[in-house]
Amino acid sequence: MSADALISTYFATGTLPDLPRDPYIGGAFVPPAKGAYMESFDPGTASAFGTFAAGTAEDVDHAVTSAVAGFALWRDTAPAKRCAILMDCARLLRAEADHLAVVESLDSGKTLAEAYGDINSSARLFEYYAGATDKLDGRSVNLGNDNAAFTSREPVGVTAHIVPWNYPTSTLVRGIAPALAAGCSAVVKPAETTPYTALMIAELLIRAGVPAGVVNVVTGTGVEAGAPLVTDPRVRHVTFTGSVATGVGVMQAVAPNVTGLTLELGGKSPLVAFADADPEAVAEGAYWAIFSNAGQICSAGSRLVIHRAIHAEVMERLLAKTRALRFGHGLRGPDMGAINSERHLATIAGHVDRARARGVEVLTGGAIAQDPETGKGWFYQPTILDNLSPQDDAVLKEIFGPVLAVQIFDSEEESLALANGTEFALAAGIYTRDLSRALRMARRVDAGQVTVNDYWAGGIELPFGGNRKSGFGREKGLEGLDAYTRTKAITLAV
Ligand code: NAD
Repeated sequence: MSADALISTYFATGTLPDLPRDPYIGGAFVPPAKGAYMESFDPGTASAFGTFAAGTAEDVDHAVTSAVAGFALWRDTAPAKRCAILMDCARLLRAEADHLAVVESLDSGKTLAEAYGDINSSARLFEYYAGATDKLDGRSVNLGNDNAAFTSREPVGVTAHIVPWNYPTSTLVRGIAPALAAGCSAVVKPAETTPYTALMIAELLIRAGVPAGVVNVVTGTGVEAGAPLVTDPRVRHVTFTGSVATGVGVMQAVAPNVTGLTLELGGKSPLVAFADADPEAVAEGAYWAIFSNAGQICSAGSRLVIHRAIHAEVMERLLAKTRALRFGHGLRGPDMGAINSERHLATIAGHVDRARARGVEVLTGGAIAQDPETGKGWFYQPTILDNLSPQDDAVLKEIFGPVLAVQIFDSEEESLALANGTEFALAAGIYTRDLSRALRMARRVDAGQVTVNDYWAGGIELPFGGNRKSGFGREKGLEGLDAYTRTKAITLAV
């Protein structure tokens, strides 16, 4: 079915045909052991449109057992063959892009264009890591003539992937693509509000030639399905993407098994704009940095740290753009989609309401809203909070919505102190025409990735990850393979 046909079907019936609902284990959809299901909601209408399994420890046990068997097969599959299969995964993902993008937009609330972007970058991830499959070489080491010594990079084994709801497809694939390239197997636990694309992709991978059992998906809540997965002693690496609080809990939970861990957590990333920066480029950059995906991005530019000399001009341009922004149901092609859940919408509103109550200036937005066409759904107005102090909660706390916090500075030293002034350190953007200053700032700002004069520059080829409470470990790029391989040293006395 084309995207248009799927969208018409959805608006006519309130659901989509052929949505998967059972855990995907050992190459088949298997009803959950306890037989319980949960409802899935369209954030653009606030109505339920499907059900999916509320998986439990029994399903997780089944999935990990299947992944242990899958690992034995996949590890011994020749790298060149794994490469060909992963290329086929990319091809199938592109072939199914219409279906996947419509489901993703509906399930998450993001715009259809954003959903296509995620599917496309996920296909690129499979292609990129397919190319690495047959290049995971070791090195030979000279111990003298009596010994032949070399290293080999080996897959770690069964890996677990705990995925959040803001980028259900691309966050999943940036974990499983390198894991599969390295020869690992995987069990995935998608977020409880966005279960479908993980199930669809697992089925698609097996269709592409990945052996049954190598990729398994158990849907359900974090407590019922996520916790038993990360603590299963057969799991050798956990890749967790989500909030700081849950990430800290997962870190504690995996400690007794000494399981490897990648933590991709929250952020409060600054876009630092100097007096010599192009005001239009800053306004445009800040607009997309905070309003893409309705601000529900770990690396969103949620703070605009701006020199006093250009503050007024940039704010005028940014306000004009923000007031012209059209939000609405993701499938109707708006500039900005919905907030993923009613609970998260209330969290965003709480942050802004408290800011207003303590006297923060709300330049625009600042309220819950509905789809202008239907009067339904979970939306938040694009919001700008101006001239905040470094200690304000709206500066220090991750809001994870379309809410920009503006901070004003007078000197480069002050800008750096403001940029590094939260417990997060995920991303940063620097806007200046002075290359020396750009490089000086890029070196001194605490973040996993720094962009200059283009906030979202980058791609799957560059490593991504945080410092401090934004987590540790790197995904994407060749560094993304490190978590899924172990180096073994081998000597042969001759
Ligand atoms: P969350 O921590 O509530 O949930 C994330 C996942 O963890 C979900 O699948 C959930 O079911 C699961 N989970 C919950 N309790 C668990 C437990 N005890 N054991 C195992 N799994 C458990 O986060 P969220 O609200 O879904 O996502 C938003 C957060 O994710 C934000 O803080 C955002 O910054 C962060 N995030 C970070 C990145 C990154 O790459 N750094 C990317 C996307 C999102």
